[in-house]
Amino acid sequence: MHVLILGGTTEARRLAELLHGLPGLKLTSSLAGRVASPRLPPGGTRVGGFGGADGLAAWLREHEVGAVVDATHPFAGTISFNAARAAAATHVPLLALRRPGWVPAEGDRWHEAASLEEAARSLPALGRRVFLTTGRMGLAAFADLDDLWFLVRSVDAPEPPYPSHMEVLLDRGPFDLGRERELLLRHRIDVVVTKDSGGAATAPKLTAAREAGLPVVVVRRPPAPAGVPVVADPEEAARWVRERSGPEPFSAG
Ligand code: NAP
Repeated sequence: MHVLILGGTTEARRLAELLHGLPGLKLTSSLAGRVASPRLPPGGTRVGGFGGADGLAAWLREHEVGAVVDATHPFAGTISFNAARAAAATHVPLLALRRPGWVPAEGDRWHEAASLEEAARSLPALGRRVFLTTGRMGLAAFADLDDLWFLVRSVDAPEPPYPSHMEVLLDRGPFDLGRERELLLRHRIDVVVTKDSGGAATAPKLTAAREAGLPVVVVRRPPAPAGVPVVADPEEAARWVRERSGPEPFSAG
């Protein structure tokens, strides 16, 4: 059976590691191509868009895909809806592998925002020096905040429009608590902005902010398609795939 993993996340890579080399299984991980040198998972890979839901449906037919796991980032809303439409059109089983969102702990000073734009509007009342961890793609929302200074952390260098007063820190997770504490102190940060990405790899900034008593603006997740079964961890997703790929050759006799 040919399995397509829609990837771009730690969990997608982990799933590919779990499935790679299983007898009777052909694996393709798909990446959007946003990151210049991505960490590639084991097994087959392809890079670039499919051309919307119809393009994805055509790809599933052409490559005789028997199951799809949407393991994209919780904020990659378009591809998840495209996957749901393409799977419905082709009758290919679809599973979403999505890490749960973060929940506030005692002492957290979270301010929820429905969008990056709303997060940007809330900032002037919260502080002057901002640690912005929402990625390089949405920086335009913060570009007009000329009175604020930003520490922007992203995997690749951002392109304009972006804030006029900013320092860029090129890095990718996982991040550890000690370094997050040190970053907040060294840059005299007064407020942190994050998407509700969930997962352990980028959570230490939340702990560091809590310890320092800093407010955190948390951007809520976009809606996900209804009717798609969801699991939270790669092991469960691997089990789902194995159940669909039928008995493994060695179990027959
Ligand atoms: P998006 O808004 O949902 O997708 C925009 C378009 O990019 C899709 O319509 C699709 O193009 C293409 N695309 C997205 N993911 C793809 C994949 N895995 N394989 C092939 N094409 C893909 O997604 P996004 O927010 O730009 O994120 C792009 C990728 O980065 C995702 O794979 C996601 O897992 C990863 N990522 C995103 C974030 C984030 O905060 N958004 C954070 C970390 C990682 P077509 O319509 O042409 O098929």
